[in-house]
Amino acid sequence: MDKILIIDDSAVQAKHLESILEDTYDITIAHTATEGLMYATSGEYALFLLDVIMPDMDGFVLLEKLQEELATEHVPVIMITSLADIHSEEHGLLLGAVDYIVKPFNPVSVKARVNTQVKQHKYWLQIERQVMKDELTKVANRRNYNRYSITKWQEAIRLKIAFSICMFDIDKFKVYNDTYGHPAGDRVLMAVAQEVDSHLQRSTDFFARYGGEEFVAIVLGGESEKVYEHFKRIRQAVEDLHMEHSGSVSPWVTVSMGGITVYPKMGERYEDYLKMADSMLYDAKRLGRSQVIWVNEKGKQWREQG
Ligand code: GH3
Ligand code: MG
Ligand code: MG
Repeated sequence: MDKILIIDDSAVQAKHLESILEDTYDITIAHTATEGLMYATSGEYALFLLDVIMPDMDGFVLLEKLQEELATEHVPVIMITSLADIHSEEHGLLLGAVDYIVKPFNPVSVKARVNTQVKQHKYWLQIERQVMKDELTKVANRRNYNRYSITKWQEAIRLKIAFSICMFDIDKFKVYNDTYGHPAGDRVLMAVAQEVDSHLQRSTDFFARYGGEEFVAIVLGGESEKVYEHFKRIRQAVEDLHMEHSGSVSPWVTVSMGGITVYPKMGERYEDYLKMADSMLYDAKRLGRSQVIWVNEKGKQWREQG
């Protein structure tokens, strides 16, 4: 059942709305805007129904807040209010509410309007997921990564937390394709991506196909040495899949990794650190492949003995 959040200071009004919608939706009710905001940012709602006049924060301000939050910015908002004047309606719609319903309302129409918006939202979610995913490997794609990296870089600056970037690349992959054929190469890409992805499942982890046979991971928080150790295990896990590769540095398919852990500061550019991770990857290739090289912001380096 899709979830709907009703935010209304009047218990009677909220109950009335609930009775109209509860046979089709999983309803949550909040009686203050503050409480509503808290639910909204934690839950997976398909729609918000907002009252306008509430004692702690008016519905227009709440609407603006919902649109500023990453977790709620795309969730449709319908305003349901006794403010029948055209200026209030204009205000709500211009702020981005998808609909504006004046009380007293016709229950059947309300239900129909809610259904339409929920359907639209689900369709949007589906498209969004497709657009953000790499078709071959099913992990996040470059477009997704571009958006995520910048958002999280700024978040790390604000929260003063560590930010790690790992770039990695399959070793001697051109030879692999030449030896085993392109379709087999595709299967290796899928297997490597799925294996790595399974080790990056925390909400603070992100993993994407950067392009071709290159991948990128971002880890928020965590001390440099710990993150380095984690990626060492991931590198090993890929090797342990034991996918035969006769023309490489090991009998199996392997990857080389370059990484960096920093505490990003205001004014620093993400791209500069990405370049450093990439140059660590370059070193890992140059020094024999199938290894991880990591550096932190103090210039301390870790390297696997290859
Ligand atoms: P190195 O160890 O230095 O990384 O050598 P490499 O051969 O892996 O690197 P190079 O950049 O020379 O070749 C990358 C190869 O990856 C060439 C390209 O055909 C292959 N590749 C890129 N994308 C795909 C893909 O989607 N499927 C397959 N099968 N191969 C791909
Ligand atoms: Mg009210
Ligand atoms: Mg390669």
